[in-house]
Amino acid sequence: AEEVGGGDKEVVREYFNNSGFQRWRKIYGDTDDVNRVQKDIRVGHSKTVENALKMLADDVPLRGVTVCDAGCGTGSLSIPLAKEGAVVFSSDISAAMVAEAEKQATEQLAGLENVSIPKFEVKDLESLDGKYDTVVCLDVLIHYPQSKADGMIAHLASLAENRLILSFAPKTFYYDLLKRVGELFPGPSKATRAYLHAEADVERALKKVGWRIRKRGLITTQFYFARLVEAVPA
Ligand code: SAM
Repeated sequence: AEEVGGGDKEVVREYFNNSGFQRWRKIYGDTDDVNRVQKDIRVGHSKTVENALKMLADDVPLRGVTVCDAGCGTGSLSIPLAKEGAVVFSSDISAAMVAEAEKQATEQLAGLENVSIPKFEVKDLESLDGKYDTVVCLDVLIHYPQSKADGMIAHLASLAENRLILSFAPKTFYYDLLKRVGELFPGPSKATRAYLHAEADVERALKKVGWRIRKRGLITTQFYFARLVEAVPA
């Protein structure tokens, strides 16, 4: 059987260690050197992070809760989670991303009381192990087709004791159209290709491993679309 991720994964890793790293570090940062589309994606993504934090802190205080941030990027979620007192395990397939996240976390968190700096690791999510109260994976599935996403979702669920929070680009007509127009993800490279996921497919993948969706959110700006779901053991 083909390894989960397969060839796509190598291309994605390469992209996020090089041009993708430069591009997304800028989008996730706060400098002015972004174009209109990048600015819009920055705003949309920050809403996803904000909504995920809200979902996470909803019913239980985060202090002391173990959270695995799979595909942590530059630490957009890991850093505020650590500020809330969560015990955060952050990992990413890209060494460049992990180095940047670690740098930012150290700058922003050092010296804060009752805050532990996340534990960073260069690792693809398929090779993560251990158990965490909560597993979060934001805007990563967009890089993989549903055939790979099923296995990734199953693996993430197996690491989580209580909750799994996922975001993905929903397969809707409008988003499909934008994708076809090519405004969002130009270029022939596989890594810039965006894979959309039908909510029903994600729900089915969760159901197969005994999980159900408890909360849903939808984040949209002009060029950014994300479905956010919180799943729990059924
Ligand atoms: N989750 C972060 C956030 O929302 O700020 C980053 C999102 S960024 C669009 C996608 C990230 O997923 C990149 O940092 C990339 O390196 C990482 N990634 C892609 N495939 C991965 C995999 N198989 N395992 C772990 N990380 C992966």
